[in-house]
Amino acid sequence: MRKKVVIIRCLCLMAVVCAAALPVLRAVNPTLVIRAGLLIDGTGDPVQTNVHIFIRGASIQKIRPVSQGGVPLFARRIDARNRTIIPGLIDSHVHFVDEVFCGQFLEFGVTSVRDMGNNTDFILELRDRINAGRRSGPTIFASGYLINNRRIPFGASRYTAVVNTPEEARRAVEVLARRRVDWIKVYFTLPPLLTRTVIQAAKSHGLPVAGHIRRVDARQAVRWGMKTIEHTTGIAEALLNQDEFEDAPPLWTISNRAWLHTDRSRYDDLINLLVHNGVGITANLTLYRSMASTADELKAKHDHPESLMPIFYLDGWVNYLKGRFLELTADRDSWIETEKKVKEFIRLFKDAGGTVLAGTDTPWPYLFPGYSLHEEIHLLVDAGFTPMEALQAATGNAVKIFGEKADIGTVTPGKRADLVILRDNPLADIHNTLSIVRVIKNGRPVPRKNK
Ligand SMILES: [Zn+2]
Repeated sequence: MRKKVVIIRCLCLMAVVCAAALPVLRAVNPTLVIRAGLLIDGTGDPVQTNVHIFIRGASIQKIRPVSQGGVPLFARRIDARNRTIIPGLIDSHVHFVDEVFCGQFLEFGVTSVRDMGNNTDFILELRDRINAGRRSGPTIFASGYLINNRRIPFGASRYTAVVNTPEEARRAVEVLARRRVDWIKVYFTLPPLLTRTVIQAAKSHGLPVAGHIRRVDARQAVRWGMKTIEHTTGIAEALLNQDEFEDAPPLWTISNRAWLHTDRSRYDDLINLLVHNGVGITANLTLYRSMASTADELKAKHDHPESLMPIFYLDGWVNYLKGRFLELTADRDSWIETEKKVKEFIRLFKDAGGTVLAGTDTPWPYLFPGYSLHEEIHLLVDAGFTPMEALQAATGNAVKIFGEKADIGTVTPGKRADLVILRDNPLADIHNTLSIVRVIKNGRPVPRKNK
């Protein structure tokens, strides 16, 4: 009897010691192992089933079939055997104007964003703070100020560097390069000569250029070395005959009327040029969709994410629907037709081997940080992409465009451990991208509001 009591006491003591030692042992061996039922790794390769994803610190170490075992005794584990894992999503076109967006992006599995025009001080400080681990938020690739010309009233906004001469254009790029931006962004009033100067100057600093273009068509821009075309701008202009392009009103910001007059016999040549030069196109179908929607449709569709949006923006958006929206969309039929043609072009470009990036332009009215990237992915499927191709646009395609030093976009060894655990398989129904169970950023689960 006495012996039994001693044994029980010993066992209890051991259990207590083990429980106390567990955090220490885990700290010594900080491996997280996720057991994935399905893994869509973002490379475009077929889905893997029943694998262990080994994560050490902030990096993916290896991926092995569950049958091979090898899970360290004291590893932390996440059991996702009935779930699907995808890479953390990348929104390739945002304006990260408010720190509050950090939580919203992560909530919706968006673990990286490319900022396409912002106050340079603000965005670089935020980027560096997140990179240093002093703030939780998505990894930011930033362009700082967008480079524009004085031709439009908001050319001098706090997000813009205004240039009027080649010398000023070179200086603007130099200042941004010294500040260590990741991209240079040119904006739509910049004339051809200055666009070309910016691209050349950026090249000398090893920086890629993204363009929301208007006074330069996509053919010219790509020949000069532009790396990504934003909102599919400049493409319709390259598909018109030259007279129509010259006549186009200078304030067509996303070219709806140009798309109505594109010449089908020109598509193949342009697509070949874009594919041959390895250009990425940020389709931005959400923006075209919102232009083709009615004000009531926009107001009605976002109950859930609206609850995450600061009231300041919602008020602003309601005002936008009463004013600028009405002006921009007075000819709604043309937007409906434009949306169709943009979708068709993007599908043809993808079919020819072109790289499409998913980007939203949030917080343009009714384009929500985080949530709207899912809308963009879903719209790509509407446009004729397979669910796998649409997911690629928001994951692995970024690697092709951002370059290998961007350690994001795929769940493969050596990459940053950013991933999303989904309840349901998005290849069966793309809307399942929203069935988010857990988000892992830099190897750590992100606390989520809705869970
Ligand atoms: Zn933008």
